[in-house]
Amino acid sequence: MTQLFSYAGSPARIVFGEGTKGQVAEWIRKSGCKRALVLSTPQQKADAEALAREIGDLACGIFSGATIHTPVDVTDAAMKVVAETGADCVVSLGGGSTTGLGKAIAYRTDLPQIVVPTTYAGSEVTPILGQTGAGRKTMVRDAKILPEVVIYDPVLTLGLPVAMSVTSGLNAMAHAVEGLYAQDRNPISTLMALEGLRAFARSLPKIVASPRDAEARSDALYGAWLCGTVLGTVGMALHHKICHTLGGSFDTPHAETHAVMLPHTAAFNARAAVSELAAAAEIFGGSIGGGLWDFAKAIGAPLSLKDFGLSEADLDRAASIAVENPYWNPRPIDKASIRALLQDAWEGRRPMD
Ligand code: NAD
Repeated sequence: MTQLFSYAGSPARIVFGEGTKGQVAEWIRKSGCKRALVLSTPQQKADAEALAREIGDLACGIFSGATIHTPVDVTDAAMKVVAETGADCVVSLGGGSTTGLGKAIAYRTDLPQIVVPTTYAGSEVTPILGQTGAGRKTMVRDAKILPEVVIYDPVLTLGLPVAMSVTSGLNAMAHAVEGLYAQDRNPISTLMALEGLRAFARSLPKIVASPRDAEARSDALYGAWLCGTVLGTVGMALHHKICHTLGGSFDTPHAETHAVMLPHTAAFNARAAVSELAAAAEIFGGSIGGGLWDFAKAIGAPLSLKDFGLSEADLDRAASIAVENPYWNPRPIDKASIRALLQDAWEGRRPMD
């Protein structure tokens, strides 16, 4: 078959490697900025303070109120600090929650963002912001949201707890798997997705065995960059729709939900995307859904939705919401088949594909 595609490379600057956190000041200056507001969650406040000390006069303050799902009232509070301090850029130190706050500020102000990721979520390389207000999560995509500079220093992930490393890694892998069969995929997104999956397939078992293995941590962060870039480049399908439904309407934990659902959504789409998923299936022993489930089990990932407090009765409503305004998906969906898929994921059954 001949190829037909359109491709736009992301304009973000990626700085990768051990010790690169030491380059934050340099990148603030290179961005033409002088007053950086350092952002973090309350749990990572001490790290944000240390980073602010490290960048000295270039830091104008710290806001450590970032939290999951980017609530609009938290962004409002951070905007007051932006105004009070006269910040001309933000430095987001943390996972997807902190990156989300930096993106929300940039969406309102177009201030440059320098992101220093400490998880594998991948948000730092996407122009997508999901924010919550009045009990609803809404997604926006805008060029202003894409961070200008991302500094990936694997040293910062050495202490990421093993359970979070596993679920965060599977969260990133889900971006890659869905990128492989995306309608708007292109040769570069496919290369990045497969390389990202290989990086996690190699590194996550090593991290579980030895959490401070510097090489494995570097490999996993490399995978996070690749998989996140795929998410930022092409459209997502059923897997992301179901995870947004479960997180948005049933408050299930973000990365853990991705981890449980990925083998099931991959198996669901396996026959409709045989050639698109063939190379990925190879990485996991020949079958994409069953292979991913075996991989997840071997690294100690959560396997059942029921562990998140979801009741069996919730599955009917989740299936109805998931088929409302569906995302494009390689296999057509209907409520009965999604309900069956959710039942398997709820029980923690190994999917067959
Ligand atoms: P998170 O940022 O919520 O982090 C979870 C907790 O772990 C926080 O308390 C955080 O401070 C802590 N933590 C982070 N790094 C740590 C480290 N190295 N050591 C110890 N503790 C650490 O979790 P996440 O999974 O990275 O992000 C989830 C959020 O990101 C969700 O809101 C999700 O919607 C969003 N997200 C957005 C995109 C996008 O493109 N818009 C992509 C992926 C995720």
